[in-house]
Amino acid sequence: MSDAKPVYRAHFRSIADHSETYPLDEIVYKSRDGHLLEVHHDMAELAKLSAAAWKALFRDRAHSTEWPYGSGVWGKKEWVLPEVEPENVVSMYEGNTNLFWAQRYGAELGLEDLWIKQCGNSHTGSFKDLGMTVLVSMVKEMIARGREIPAVACASTGDTSAALSAYAAAANIPAVVFLPRGKVSVAQLIQPVANGAIVFALDTDFDGCMEIVKEISEKDGIYLANSMNSLRIEGQKTVGVEIIEQLDWEVPDWIVIPGGNLGNVSALAKGLDLCLELGLIERKPRIVCAQAEAANPLYLAYQRNFEVFEPIHARPTLASAIQIGNPVSIQKAIDAIQRYDGIVEQASEAELADACGRADRTGLFNCPHTGVALAAMEKLFARGVIRPSDRVVVISTAHGLKFVDFKVKYHQMQLEGMEAAYANPPIELAPDYALVRGAMLREIEQRFGA
Ligand SMILES: *Cc1c(COP(=O)(O)O)cnc(C)c1O
Repeated sequence: MSDAKPVYRAHFRSIADHSETYPLDEIVYKSRDGHLLEVHHDMAELAKLSAAAWKALFRDRAHSTEWPYGSGVWGKKEWVLPEVEPENVVSMYEGNTNLFWAQRYGAELGLEDLWIKQCGNSHTGSFKDLGMTVLVSMVKEMIARGREIPAVACASTGDTSAALSAYAAAANIPAVVFLPRGKVSVAQLIQPVANGAIVFALDTDFDGCMEIVKEISEKDGIYLANSMNSLRIEGQKTVGVEIIEQLDWEVPDWIVIPGGNLGNVSALAKGLDLCLELGLIERKPRIVCAQAEAANPLYLAYQRNFEVFEPIHARPTLASAIQIGNPVSIQKAIDAIQRYDGIVEQASEAELADACGRADRTGLFNCPHTGVALAAMEKLFARGVIRPSDRVVVISTAHGLKFVDFKVKYHQMQLEGMEAAYANPPIELAPDYALVRGAMLREIEQRFGA
């Protein structure tokens, strides 16, 4: 036995050919034959610490002020990005989001043990912070090592650009964001604008923006921050570890997650993989990936046992962040679903909106993507796949306040083709005591009377 300090190492490797590897400070997004890369850790070194020791280390670091370990992501630094110097970490103490026992919502459905992982309670209001802290930290590390990186860029209509802009601003690294002109809401536009990103509104759609950002990253050395870059997955995978840690290392029966580009479902599985390999848990939860019916290529492939995958043209959906027909991380996602005895379920626009409405009535405040996950969970429960005694965790991906347009329209009953069963529009009345009192007593009786 030597008592030399452990040196944890990680590198990129092709998901198809594990012998094709690259150092993490190389600017590379895909393998020579066009496959995605993944970050692979030196498992032998990680395994030298016992499962109990890792658990104790993570517990002691959570919420501490010892830089940067109080972050939910950086508290697991050795599992995420060991080689970055702490002084180059760009963190807003993301992660460690609350896992909420949705007691009333669950009881109404008949599920006693339902939990919601509130990833939207984060710096920019979505789980995208978990991945972006890692990517931007690696960029800062690379710049410190002397690499020329003039800027970091992404194509996005929402949460990715918000996260990139905030972390880049914190690090004083230029951020460039490409948005389809006129196709993003004020709320989606304002975060990168406020954070001082260079914001381009292009006369095209998301795919058109993606083409431009790819060309710019190839020809001009601008660092690409879309989820094709597997550094983001390393941060996002901590959600899988964190959920189980918050449940005192007891593995739930199900974890339900909404999917669009499918990086996040892949990341969830990757976090669980490490827990299994290093002996922190001994069994697997089952994963449910939930898609909007309007953007359901993974669901269609699942229906055919993944024998074929065909990209589709995604139609507009209220769950705008998952309106993707040709997901970048499709291969990783299929692998994740297969290894975690997974299920892919879909939700219609009315189903996702009513699932939000119903859960909101019990004190939640859900974004439409979380609505897709809730609706999928409700459908699987109704079909008897999820059983009443199962422990279920639903991953809420963004804060509802980022999507108020959707909620306002729902409660005004202005969403087309939808009854909006849980709409609760304000009652407009003259300021007259008797009128107000009558209406109030009627409402209390109607809603809460026996
Ligand atoms: C990005 C995003 C998703 C989808 O994650 P993918 O990795 O693209 O599958 C879901 N919900 C919200 C709120 C998002 O921002």
